[in-house]
Amino acid sequence: MARIFGTSKSTLALRNRKRFLLCQLKVYPDSLRASLVERFSRCGKANCNCRHGGNKHGPFYYLTQCLAVGQINKFLLKAATQQEAARQGIDHYRRLQELLEELSQINAELLRREEPLADD
Ligand SMILES: [Zn+2]
Repeated sequence: MARIFGTSKSTLALRNRKRFLLCQLKVYPDSLRASLVERFSRCGKANCNCRHGGNKHGPFYYLTQCLAVGQINKFLLKAATQQEAARQGIDHYRRLQELLEELSQINAELLRREEPLADD
């Protein structure tokens, strides 16, 4: 679900906002569309504490990516450096997507007002 941005401003304000968004747009090389999931789990050892009311093992961090309906790419990120890289990449991707989404909503509104979309 997309966040809804305010598009009730004047056409001039929308165009200014659009120019600002275009300046902000940057594709970072580490952009990553994924989620970082934290998990705690029980191990396979029958007499381990985790099987007898003790704490589970973890946290373990998994990167998950939904590629298609029912098709998920998921793997464990073992190193803290990998986890940090994933956080950064996910954050960069989200920022880019949010900027693009706002740009798109402004363009839809400009189109509704029968305004041209290509920049002046
Ligand atoms: Zn255990």
